[in-house]
Amino acid sequence: MTGSDQPAVNLLDFDLDGLAAYCEGLGEKRFRATQLFRWIHQKGAADFGAMSDLAKSLRDKLAGVAEIRPLPVATEQASADGTIKWLFDVGGGNAVESVFIPEDDRGTLCVSSQAGCAVGCRFCSTGHQGFSRNLTTGEILAQLWYAEHHLRQRLKLAPGERAITNVVMMGMGEPLQNYSALVPALKVMLDDHGYGLSRRRVTVSTSGVVPMMDRLREDCPVALAVSLHAPIDSLRNDLVPLNKKYPLVELMAACRRYLEAAPRDFITFEYCMLDGVNDSDDQARELLALIDGRGEGGADRVPCKLNLIPFNPFPESGLLRSPRNRVQAFAKVLQDAGVVTTIRKTRGDDIDAACGQLAGEVQDRTRAAERMKRLPVRVVAAPPDPLPKSR
Ligand code: SF4
Repeated sequence: MTGSDQPAVNLLDFDLDGLAAYCEGLGEKRFRATQLFRWIHQKGAADFGAMSDLAKSLRDKLAGVAEIRPLPVATEQASADGTIKWLFDVGGGNAVESVFIPEDDRGTLCVSSQAGCAVGCRFCSTGHQGFSRNLTTGEILAQLWYAEHHLRQRLKLAPGERAITNVVMMGMGEPLQNYSALVPALKVMLDDHGYGLSRRRVTVSTSGVVPMMDRLREDCPVALAVSLHAPIDSLRNDLVPLNKKYPLVELMAACRRYLEAAPRDFITFEYCMLDGVNDSDDQARELLALIDGRGEGGADRVPCKLNLIPFNPFPESGLLRSPRNRVQAFAKVLQDAGVVTTIRKTRGDDIDAACGQLAGEVQDRTRAAERMKRLPVRVVAAPPDPLPKSR
């Protein structure tokens, strides 16, 4: 709170244009906003008094009305493989998770966009928890702000060295269902005065919110990952319920449109391997047909990379992980047809930080979790939809 009992403005809520507009409202020029922005995001400062090259008059003005509001860290867990998971308290009984995944040539932060998720994918812990609320831009960025500046100290990085080189919006939530908060956060990640990440190193992962994929292409095209998980509508309706609204033919068309503006010349398709559900050779061939545009509404192949994710089982799902040799056989069908296919290495599974395991704490307001409990889990693949003949 400020002296006037107005809540302080959280400066993490602004991209650079937003901060410039805010500073103009305080009677300050744009270059002052740029200085302030660099202090916040490049240097990790939270105290206006420490911002030594900022005019004292501005520091004094800000101290009365604004703040840089971090998220309280509820817990931190470190995996034997170097993965670190933080649980951030976002108030109201909700907490969200972020995961840092170090590799030889990069450091990736997996960021949450919502407390819970309303999409309700059957194989996802978050989906089973239901949905509470969207995160603000400031809450999305606070995860990166904390992780970057905490890790610089922890890893004893040299001045100017970055801990986080890649961001994936693959934590809790469907980022494209929180679009207005997401886009300013992406802009800060990309801004040379902010985190300076290239568009290729920032990835939005979506379960297929088609109209928002089109908007992202216009507003802030970054790398795109699409959670596919099934090659035909009847099965995908079951696994990713959003498919009933935006079926595969529409989703694949949106992918083709997105590629016209994308920073990479391919879409990453994520495919969670579920034993006896979506992992047969026939289903791999159906997936090929979908990618090749031989399904309904025929079109060109979608340039893509396919990422097969070993499922991380949790009791409520009623689903099992595909055996290793099944995953490899599935991959081979696709690789033999020229589709770049990788099997994701499981990271951080000793701390439940692997893909689909993020659970946080969610005060479910949608009763999504309850609904899902009542639905029978289909563990036998649906009979395949008839495919039109190859062109
Ligand atoms: S996989 Fe993504 S979109 Fe689906 S329920 Fe989980 S968080 Fe939501």
